[in-house]
Amino acid sequence: MQVRHNCIGILGGGQLARMSLQAASRLGISIAILEKHSGSPAGMLTRKEFAGWVDNHILLEQFARQCDAVTLENEFIDASNLYFIETLGIRMVPSSDTIALIQDKYIQKRTLAAAGIPVPAFIPVTDTSEYQKLKKLFGKKFLLKSRKMGYDGYGNAMITSPEDYVSSIEKLTKRHSDIYAEGFVNFEKELAVMVVRTQKEVKTYPVVETIQENHICKLVLAPAGIPKKTAELAKQIAVAAVEAVDGFGIFGVELFCNSAGDVLVNEMAPRPHNSGHYTIEATVTSQFENHIRSVLGLPLGSTEMNCKNAVMINILGRGDGTGEIKNMDKLMKMGDFYLHNYGKKVSRPGRKMGHITLKGDDMSVLIKQAKKIERTVVI
Ligand code: AMP
Repeated sequence: MQVRHNCIGILGGGQLARMSLQAASRLGISIAILEKHSGSPAGMLTRKEFAGWVDNHILLEQFARQCDAVTLENEFIDASNLYFIETLGIRMVPSSDTIALIQDKYIQKRTLAAAGIPVPAFIPVTDTSEYQKLKKLFGKKFLLKSRKMGYDGYGNAMITSPEDYVSSIEKLTKRHSDIYAEGFVNFEKELAVMVVRTQKEVKTYPVVETIQENHICKLVLAPAGIPKKTAELAKQIAVAAVEAVDGFGIFGVELFCNSAGDVLVNEMAPRPHNSGHYTIEATVTSQFENHIRSVLGLPLGSTEMNCKNAVMINILGRGDGTGEIKNMDKLMKMGDFYLHNYGKKVSRPGRKMGHITLKGDDMSVLIKQAKKIERTVVI
């Protein structure tokens, strides 16, 4: 029987859903968006916009029944709501079982470690945990992390003293009850690999370097300036991580790499990822198009770069205001670059409002240009 390939549902309407929608619409595939409020970055671009959330199963069913398959842009949706979609006979990509293994970072680490994938040392924090015991295990410096809902460093705390430990436990447990502790990794670089997998094939994108500011990804350099051997190892580990959670669809795997060339998984995201935004212009098939293809089980496109180097820089909110870029005239005169404004209505400090990608030969020139353009944006 011919599959319809008409409509994919996305749970969430932020920038990842918006850019997935933009890729889908070029292929003639429509997107339905479920988001808490109407007028979200993706919701404003489709007529199939559902305002409400996944705990409303009447709405969730109405939404899912419009779709050939459903995917998500945020892994923190309770897996039981994804399972509900599957019970309707509608495919979730990735599956509810995969999401259940990822959305709790402690379970994710345990699953990866059990599959023999290198991860930082980790242990759950319980009522009987004590600073001195953890210090003995990890050394003077370690992290406490919320098991759920942590992103862009929210839900993480660096611990270097008994005082840090007490105040962070209090702060983190207020936010989310369960915590785990993780050894500090003295990494040289942070890397990321996008992996896209269907029942028939698996492909990796080039290994990129990510540079964070205040725990938020600021710059992505593609490809990462690392030895070929390290890049191959990073790709192998990233694919093994996706297989360990029985993952299908697209995944962003974040890695730490030290000067000896060891590679550890920091965490994985079961969706398009900020480290893959450069692929829209700098690879043959973007992460968003391959995401759409993988959700529908279509053959995947090439993940090769179409240029020597690319740099992506995030436009982060600087203060409270609107998401409007106020100096487009000036920006558009600053040379050749690709601007993405996510259309968010409200800007907050650190909020991802858009991004810019540049392509060229000389990485250091691209980085300089990217920073200059980003500094010029008035938002
Ligand atoms: P996360 O949201 O857990 O990925 O953490 C955000 C950022 O905190 C990472 O990109 C790293 O820069 C840093 N970080 C997280 N875990 C560790 C670790 N175990 N050792 C050193 N730095 C870390």
